[in-house]
Amino acid sequence: MKILFHEKFYESDYANNGAADPGRMKAIMDVVSKDNDFEIIRPCPADEDAVLLAHTPHYIDTVRANPKLCDMALLATGAAIMASDIGIGGEPAFACLRPPGHHAYRESSWGYCVFSNMGIALLRLRQQQRIKSAFILDFDAHTGDGTKAVLSGWTDCHILNPYADDREAYIEIIRNFIHDIPTVDIVCVCAGFDSYEKDVGRKLSTSDFYLIGDMMKRFARRAAKNRRFAILEGGYYQPDLGKNVLAFCHGFM
Ligand SMILES: [Zn+2]
Repeated sequence: MKILFHEKFYESDYANNGAADPGRMKAIMDVVSKDNDFEIIRPCPADEDAVLLAHTPHYIDTVRANPKLCDMALLATGAAIMASDIGIGGEPAFACLRPPGHHAYRESSWGYCVFSNMGIALLRLRQQQRIKSAFILDFDAHTGDGTKAVLSGWTDCHILNPYADDREAYIEIIRNFIHDIPTVDIVCVCAGFDSYEKDVGRKLSTSDFYLIGDMMKRFARRAAKNRRFAILEGGYYQPDLGKNVLAFCHGFM
């Protein structure tokens, strides 16, 4: 499976927040790069035309005022776009990126996010008439409010942010939701590993991440001509972050 990653994502001085924490990307890539199942591909930055699909010119100007942050955010969006291009071709891909994007709105953002990585990638595929519908599972501990806002009005884009008190019910919500979708043009995952039992979400185990990845793979095979990709959102418990990403990717591939 292809992993989109750029060495620039190791840099942690683009912002001062949890997503930018030193060591966070290394915790993932140290584990993933040792596994022969993965091919690491270096992404290019997104161009402004793509970003304009989800954001206003004024908001982009605001981000540009901080060149270091803007360069990193454009590279993150570029990684999501490349993952979506691979995914639409029927090959799974995971974009290991930062800053994340699921709290980014058209003209604002919060929660460590800058650009709507998933929103931009999907709106671009739709603009290019390569998809008419999409499914997004966001398993981050926090609701992907920005993704929902950016993609609001697109009735054939189904977005699931599961909420449940325990892990069994959480998995069941995903299972039931996808069961009711007969076909979709692409299966997408906003992979937030802060839902881990030792992270802020206090819920999912390492094997749950494998299970969720596997469910999305099977769903894509059944309903989406095998088209699927995933991008990183949150996940801050560094001691187990690498093994959790690895578990998800092994299920997903
Ligand atoms: Zn989160």
